[in-house]
Amino acid sequence: MPRELVFRLSRFRDHYFPRFEQKYRELVARGQHPSTLFIGCSDSRVVPHLLMGCGPGELFIVRNVGNLVPPYDASHGYHGSAAAIEFAVLNLAVTDIVVCGHSHCGAIQALYQDLPAEARHMRKWLELAREAVLPVRASGDALRRVEQRSVVLQLERLLTFPMVRARVEDGTLFLHGWHYIIEDGRVLELDARSGAFVPLEASPVKPAPDPDESADLLGTYL
Ligand SMILES: [Zn+2]
Repeated sequence: MPRELVFRLSRFRDHYFPRFEQKYRELVARGQHPSTLFIGCSDSRVVPHLLMGCGPGELFIVRNVGNLVPPYDASHGYHGSAAAIEFAVLNLAVTDIVVCGHSHCGAIQALYQDLPAEARHMRKWLELAREAVLPVRASGDALRRVEQRSVVLQLERLLTFPMVRARVEDGTLFLHGWHYIIEDGRVLELDARSGAFVPLEASPVKPAPDPDESADLLGTYL
């Protein structure tokens, strides 16, 4: 490990921790109550706390390769991301779930490449985004669109979790699709009605759930 990173541990203890010591003690005494589950990519350039200016106790974070959501399927295997989603919804009662894709995502690029034979887990895992792939050459614009399409796909898969779907339907949980443009420092948000990703600050006020449109859960409740 680079010595610089180890040095920063002591910087945290000596400078950052004292500023937030009271907050940390409260979070230990009363437990954590984050409002938001953030599902993001493991990419080192995606820094959720920096992006949203969050401190301790504000975000419950799941990061994996490609910010992917597995299907609700407890039949086999180890489901770390699925367990985290369940914990956030059932134990922490988060009110919002953000699936945040990003530009230049290596997971999306990998869908257009041959993976090494020994990358068995990666090959299987990335299938969770396969449906988002466009049959075009993997250029910059096309990859941005695939990244966004994958975010929509993961949001749809979130709704296969019964505890997510029930809370979305009764209006106590809201889903959000984001696309973080690393090189611009800005976030685009899925406008569920148009299907387009628009600058987050320009998003319309969240509409009240309309029971008449319940067939289109994403369009109604996001
Ligand atoms: Zn990524």
